[in-house]
Amino acid sequence: MKYDLLVVGAGPAGLTAAIQARARDKSVLVVSNEPTASPLCKAPQMDNYPGIPHISGLDLVERLLAQAKEMGAQLRLGRVLSLIPLGESVMASIGDQVEEAGAAVLATGVARATPLKGEEKLLGRGVSYCATCDGMFYRDRPIVVAGDAPDLEEETEYLRSIGCLVTSVRLPGLEILGDTQVTGVRTAAGAEIPCDGVFLLRASIAPAQLAPGLELEHGYIKVDGRMATNLPRIYAAGDCTGQPLQLAKAVGQGQTAAHYALLEQ
Ligand SMILES: Cc1cc2nc3c(=O)[nH]c(=O)nc-3n(C[C@H](O)[C@H](O)[C@H](O)COP(=O)(O)OP(=O)(O)OC[C@H]3O[C@@H](n4cnc5c(N)ncnc54)[C@H](O)[C@@H]3O)c2cc1C
Repeated sequence: MKYDLLVVGAGPAGLTAAIQARARDKSVLVVSNEPTASPLCKAPQMDNYPGIPHISGLDLVERLLAQAKEMGAQLRLGRVLSLIPLGESVMASIGDQVEEAGAAVLATGVARATPLKGEEKLLGRGVSYCATCDGMFYRDRPIVVAGDAPDLEEETEYLRSIGCLVTSVRLPGLEILGDTQVTGVRTAAGAEIPCDGVFLLRASIAPAQLAPGLELEHGYIKVDGRMATNLPRIYAAGDCTGQPLQLAKAVGQGQTAAHYALLEQ
């Protein structure tokens, strides 16, 4: 099925975009990591959200989720690995599945991960973000898996099940070794582990990795007043577009992004 709109991230910006789409009777798929695991849900009380003072982060997300579902938004748990405009559509890959929509709204919040030493240089040369996409290349070969993705265990098990020789390590302080191809990793404790591939399975993926060619400004997604990015059919909203990193702004941008994403198809 081709959706009218695909939203990446079920925080306040993404869920508001979904609500806006349903209010216009458009089909919408929201793909997100577990929404109630978001750092926002740890906020015990937020006092500056207009009209709903003293609400907790968890309460707000649960209310937005309930509203979006009640209005008919489709919600899927999962991590979007890439988003690519193709003709009249945007294609999103989620694990080994692909979803198609007329437009997409990136509402991924702040990507809290800074690249590891060696990561950018060796991306595509042994560094991978997707077990399903690249796992088969490493059958019977030593690989290292690190990350904090909600499906980390499942993905690690998958890599083992297809014959990869997996070593799991902790992500913080990890260094990826190799000049033109991955040769190993160095852990924070200084141990060197030789390997042919490194799978970095993070909960948050930097926007430019998610949508190749996406223009950034000061590390955030560059948008115009319609919340359009430089890529056709891809809009962005919320913390991922930059300061202020606040709820009311996220919600307003989510509404605006969905409005133009649907209008301009
Ligand atoms: C502890 C805390 C307290 C805060 N208190 C306040 C306050 O009092 N007032 C205020 O105005 N603001 C507050 N904020 C800031 C506010 O929470 C953010 O501005 C707001 O949550 C931004 O919403 P968002 O939808 O842009 O992003 P987020 O709420 O971060 O949601 C993004 C969602 O997208 C998911 N995601 C990311 N990448 C992917 C991917 N590739 N595939 C699938 N899913 C993905 C994430 O897991 C997350 O669930 C607080 C934040 C925190 C952490």
